[in-house]
Amino acid sequence: QLGEAASRLDCNAYVVGGFVRDLFLYRSNEDIDIVIEGNGIEFARTFARESGARIHTHEKFGTAVIIFPDGFKIDVASARMEYYQFPASLPVVEMSSIKMDMFRRDFTINTLAIQLNPGNFGRLIDFFSSQKDIKDKVLRVLHNMSFVEDPTRVFRALRFEQRFGFTIGKLTSSLIDNAVKMNFFKRLAGKRVYAELKLILKEENPAPTILRLLDYDLLRVIHPDLIIETDFKTLLDTAKKVTDWHDLLFIDETYERWAVHFMTLIRHCGLKATREICTHLTIAPRYAKMFGENRLSTEKQLSLLERRKRMTHADVYNLLKGFKTEMILYMMVCTTSRMAKKRISHYHTQLRNVTITISGKDLLKMDIKPGPIYSKILQAVLEAKLNGVLRTREDEFNFARE
Ligand code: ATP
Repeated sequence: QLGEAASRLDCNAYVVGGFVRDLFLYRSNEDIDIVIEGNGIEFARTFARESGARIHTHEKFGTAVIIFPDGFKIDVASARMEYYQFPASLPVVEMSSIKMDMFRRDFTINTLAIQLNPGNFGRLIDFFSSQKDIKDKVLRVLHNMSFVEDPTRVFRALRFEQRFGFTIGKLTSSLIDNAVKMNFFKRLAGKRVYAELKLILKEENPAPTILRLLDYDLLRVIHPDLIIETDFKTLLDTAKKVTDWHDLLFIDETYERWAVHFMTLIRHCGLKATREICTHLTIAPRYAKMFGENRLSTEKQLSLLERRKRMTHADVYNLLKGFKTEMILYMMVCTTSRMAKKRISHYHTQLRNVTITISGKDLLKMDIKPGPIYSKILQAVLEAKLNGVLRTREDEFNFARE
């Protein structure tokens, strides 16, 4: 249908990028990127009208997102010659629009395109030996200026290397060394670093890529003195284990998994350094608060959970209530105490779900005069229930009466 709509508008349509790469890697990918040789926005508008979808457009970039009623999205971009500006040192070559579009990409493995127009449907376009590199499991940039043009590609290279178990080509590897040596990253906006870092942290297992960033001394791009202690690798591995544990137990619960990994990364940074990181990376205030004040406020709780020998379930509950899942998991990552870990996991799997059935209305029926005493009574009932003293609703009533 996409190809038919494109042909009707007299332009070529291709599915490109990660989706096609992943077809060749036998990996599932639901992000569909379409490139139109022509006006992508006009194409998206027409296609959306005909198929009952809506669109979001970015006129400046010639891109659009088609959003179907069930929420499924397709990204559409325009490949037009006049959009491209290359550094002066690159050779001027005649290229078709699609070839130009592919040439602007990060790595050869992302330069496959499949045409969608009827007549040419399924035609595979491979200008830069992408299939060979996928087969050989090699990551290569398209030209020597690639990292000058966009240093974030270094982060992308390490992410893809670890995700796919590829190796970085010899020339590409020396271009990375050069980018690090010449510090191409100093002119990189924090916002872009953050975007790439988030993509790394959202990987199934971010630890290996983060360790590669450390190998290349690239964590300093996040903050010049990001504190890396000897427990760094263990912490990253523990973060993976803890989040996996959580995700297996609570499949339906959503939380920001990447944020747990981010906090693990800055585990040894104090408030001042954390604030500097958040400012540099332009992290939204909501997260800046989570990574700064909230994260550091867990230290106190954690040390109590680690040190106090005797704690009732209600004590544990009162210490941990109010902390979001991200913080609870972060605490589990940070502690080396088995006792604290057990307490936190008990809170998260059981205690936090404990509720009482009796309410203020019931207290009124018992002829207890309304006032601040109500919340005290209800709190006492909850604590007794947490401690396993109350089993039935009747127990709750009797306890409240006393
Ligand atoms: P993922 O599976 O992580 O989504 P992807 O390859 O689909 O990987 P996106 O970040 O969604 O990656 O980018 C889509 C396409 O845009 C990529 O295939 C790549 O070719 C291109 N791209 C993204 N970032 C850059 C960049 N910094 N420089 C050049 N091309 C890029």
